[in-house]
Amino acid sequence: MKPIIIKRKYKNPIIAIIILIIIISITYVVFAYRKAEAPKIPEIKNEVKSDIQKSATESKENTNNKNIGTYKITKDFKVIPTDKNADKKVVLLTIDDGPSSQSSDIVKTLTDANIHAIFFINGTNIKAHPDALKQEFAAGNMIGNHTWDHKNLHLIKDETAKKEIDMNTDIIVKETGVKPIFFRSPFGALTTFAKDYTEKEGMFPFNWSDAALDWEKNTKDKKVFIANVIKGIGPGSIILMHEHPWSRDALPDLIKEIKSKGYTFVDPKDIVK
Ligand SMILES: [Zn+2]
Repeated sequence: MKPIIIKRKYKNPIIAIIILIIIISITYVVFAYRKAEAPKIPEIKNEVKSDIQKSATESKENTNNKNIGTYKITKDFKVIPTDKNADKKVVLLTIDDGPSSQSSDIVKTLTDANIHAIFFINGTNIKAHPDALKQEFAAGNMIGNHTWDHKNLHLIKDETAKKEIDMNTDIIVKETGVKPIFFRSPFGALTTFAKDYTEKEGMFPFNWSDAALDWEKNTKDKKVFIANVIKGIGPGSIILMHEHPWSRDALPDLIKEIKSKGYTFVDPKDIVK
């Protein structure tokens, strides 16, 4: 037994030294190779660094903005998930009375924020803004029927209301190739006829549950515009704003404010019957 122990004791240090030499050699070769391959990293100025962080935050915001699942519209004009896995803290953005000179800027703001909205348009406005409706649609937003000429349906004959609705559907189909599936009556004045007729035509008629009240002059002050929306916001809110110049100007900050409160935006394409 004794000689064997001596032999093992003698052998172990030699093996250890050999292994150590091999490890040192490999480490040296790898390190030298990496050093040769590593690109020179230029010094990043502080302002560039903050830009990088900003864009990283923004892209995170964009990722967080994706909802999973489908939604339906309730009778009190809210969007609620149709499956339990879908996010409940959501809002739906609707923008009425376009197309207009503001459409292009509004579409850009939405695209930058990775949001899709419903644009409830009046066909009579298309002639003055021939590309605006196409821009709204091409960016992935949905086009809703808001009648041809924005007449109060309570004050016109049902026959005229039918024409107002049909003419608008026809121009939306002509311009986008897609039949509208959302309907909102001007001033939210939905008549029994308009409700029944639009439903028969395969549309959802609905109003809103949270308005920017941007027909009021004081909403030209951005703070008032945003405060109006935030005051009425809750899970499932359907937000109403218009294609006014001051609403366009307030929209980027409104979106930031809504996101900062933890809401995400429902894509209108995820709304089902
Ligand atoms: Zn309107």
